[in-house]
Amino acid sequence: MTTVSSSNDLTVPSHAWPTEPPAPTAAATGSPTGRRRRDLLRMSLAAALGATTAVGAVAGAERVRERYPLPFYGGYAAPIHGDRRTEPRHREVAVTWGVNTTKKLVALTFDDGPMPNWTPQVQAILAEHRVRATFFLIGERALAYRDLLSGRLGGHEVGNHTWAHRDLARMEYADAYEAIARGARAIAAATGREPTLLRPPYGHLGGSALLAAADLGASVVLWNRQMLETDYRHDQPGLVDYVVESCSPGTILLAHDAGDQERLVAINGLPAMIQGLRARGFEFVTVSELLGER
Ligand SMILES: [Zn+2]
Repeated sequence: MTTVSSSNDLTVPSHAWPTEPPAPTAAATGSPTGRRRRDLLRMSLAAALGATTAVGAVAGAERVRERYPLPFYGGYAAPIHGDRRTEPRHREVAVTWGVNTTKKLVALTFDDGPMPNWTPQVQAILAEHRVRATFFLIGERALAYRDLLSGRLGGHEVGNHTWAHRDLARMEYADAYEAIARGARAIAAATGREPTLLRPPYGHLGGSALLAAADLGASVVLWNRQMLETDYRHDQPGLVDYVVESCSPGTILLAHDAGDQERLVAINGLPAMIQGLRARGFEFVTVSELLGER
C-alpha cells in the first residue's frame, strides 16, 4: 500500500522542477569569501563575549563537522538499521504533500489536538457545514482528553501526530519508533481506530524517522497549503481569501485545533473558507480518500 514515490505525490508542476540543484552559496562551499565572512562573524561574536580564545576551538569543531558525514548507521539521519542486516519491514514509504488529481477535492487537516480550547469549536463548525476532515492527534492528549473524541469523530479520520510532539528529526531510530508507535497505541485506545497516517511534528523528518515509519507501515502525510495565522493575525478576511484562492485540486491543507489565541483567526474564518471553497466547486474529503485518487 505504500508504493508511491514522492515525485508522484508532489503537486508542484513538473515544469517547476529545477534541472539542477541550486548553486551553492559561497558560505556553503567554504570558498574564501564565505570563510572570511564566517570567520569575521565568529570573531566579532567571540570578541563581543570576551572569549577570543574560544575562536580556535569553535573553528576546529566546525571544520570537523564539515569534513565528516553524520554517523553512517544508528544516528538520526540514517535510514538503515544500525546492525546493517535488518531490513525495513516495508520496503517503501509514501511521503505525501498533496495529491495529483484534476478533481476538485481538498483534505482539511487539524494537528495537535484534542484540546478543550479549540477542538469542540472546530468539531461544531465541521458538523454544521457537514465537512469531513482529518485530525492528526497527539497520543498523550488523545488519552487525557478522550471525552472530546468519544462519539464525536463521526466521519472524520484520525491520524498519528506522535505520542508527545517531540521532533522526530532529532531522534535516533529506537526513540523515533517509540514516539510513533506509542502515539498510535494511545490514539487507538482513545478512539477505537488504528491510525495508519503519520504527520511528523513540525513536518520534520530524519532518516531514522522514515525507517521507523517503514517498520510501522505508516504513510507520511505533510501538507502543501497551510493556514498562515501569523501573517494574517489581524486580517481574517485576508486569510480566508488566501486559503480559498490558493487551494487547488488535491490540496492537503494544514490547520490546528490547539494552540494559542493566534489560531483563532483561522478557526473563526473556517466557515467562510468552507463556503468559499464550495463556491469554487471544491468538495471536502479525508486524507485517505484523497490518497485513493492517486
Ligand atoms: Zn504539531
